Amino acid sequence: MFLQNRQWLQKISWKSPKVIGGALAVFIVLGSGGYYLINSSSAAYLMINGERIGIVTNQGTGQNLIQNVLKEKGASLGVVAKTHDKIEFAKALVGKDQVQPISEGEIQKKLSVYIDAAELTIGDKPIFILPSQEEAQKLLKSYQDLYAKSSGTNQVTKVSFEENVETKAIETEPDKVLTLDKALEKLKQGDTQKLEYTVQANDSWWLIARKNNMKTVEVLASNPGTTLDTKIKPGQKINLEKVTPYLTVVCEGTRVDQETLPFDVVAKTDSSLGSGQSKVTQAGSDGQKEVKYTYVQKNDKVVSKNVVEEKVLKAAVNQVVAKGPNQTPVVVAYSRGSGQVSGLGWPLSSHINSYYGYRSGGFHTGIDIAGDTGDPYVAAASGRVVSAGWAGSYGNCIVIDHGNGIMTRYAHSSKLLVSAGQSVSKGQTIGLVGATGNATGPHLHFEVIINGDTANPLNYLP
Ligand SMILES: [Zn+2]
Repeated sequence: MFLQNRQWLQKISWKSPKVIGGALAVFIVLGSGGYYLINSSSAAYLMINGERIGIVTNQGTGQNLIQNVLKEKGASLGVVAKTHDKIEFAKALVGKDQVQPISEGEIQKKLSVYIDAAELTIGDKPIFILPSQEEAQKLLKSYQDLYAKSSGTNQVTKVSFEENVETKAIETEPDKVLTLDKALEKLKQGDTQKLEYTVQANDSWWLIARKNNMKTVEVLASNPGTTLDTKIKPGQKINLEKVTPYLTVVCEGTRVDQETLPFDVVAKTDSSLGSGQSKVTQAGSDGQKEVKYTYVQKNDKVVSKNVVEEKVLKAAVNQVVAKGPNQTPVVVAYSRGSGQVSGLGWPLSSHINSYYGYRSGGFHTGIDIAGDTGDPYVAAASGRVVSAGWAGSYGNCIVIDHGNGIMTRYAHSSKLLVSAGQSVSKGQTIGLVGATGNATGPHLHFEVIINGDTANPLNYLP
């Protein structure tokens, strides 16, 4: 039971985060109040915006409680929260043993708090709220550094953002504020937009991905339970969870790269060899060149590249294959359905993105088999690894000699699992799909080389 004399109400304007000290109520006893003067504690009612919230043993304790709540609310962000609420204390004349002080938790529920923060807008859209302008600037710098960092071989000359980026001072609830680390994580992850897509005639998972500027693996992930083998019908609706970066770092600079000059395979007719026979008379070896170029990069994608200087450090040595005068038996032996010799197998079971032959940009010397970075691919036939390593525009590349003048090449790998000189068997995993070298996206570029010339792999695959 609390007793109160309204005349003891004392209004104190609360100036957080500083605790106002020394504002003790002047004790005036009126009439029968004498009893309380003698026996009461210095207990006070805590009032928030005019509402009596509870009792505190004394005003100082009450102020400490409020201060603790403000500290706690801002703790995860390293600041003390503030409040616009009106905090007042009113004298409570109660016996010492009757004081049941309010808890911090109860105050937390009643007090509205805010912190001064910085809102980051990208292209006029509010994206994140950070604890301060400084933190917002640090976030932007950290994000730039992910994509634009000078090193011994890379001289960054200009960095900017493609979007209009601004920070604005705001007051906000602490829950809405992200720490620098969390904001950077979100910025790296990008913005996920959920769209619905209606399957068109002749669509495949791969084609849908390409139409929407996504990866096949992302399209499949947007539709849980689906695989590349899941059939889709025109008119069917599927989900697309498209991830776009919030922010684009535009970086200009000059870079010096060492590139491998892949060796060529040349064929020479040798009449001393029997029909269909061939042998390597000179082993090929890769050369190396140093290329200096200027570039413009948007996030991790190089959008333009201009070679300013090129220096051959080591010339490539051709691989020379001597072959018998008649090569027909070799071709027949490996051609589709001949049944004479076990032929080549698919290095990766998937669909073809691009076929052998002329296409815009020149002659395509192999087939591009769809795949995602990290998909394992296998040797098309048994043989010996001629080379396994970086090969310029082929990226990480493997060449296997299967004998009888037949070789296969596997390009753009993210990882090579074999090395030169090693024997491999048909179906053995030799590398992982990637997008290294001159590749717009992950796939396996697969070539069949017959007596030094590339041939259409589809004529040799089952
Ligand atoms: Zn290709």
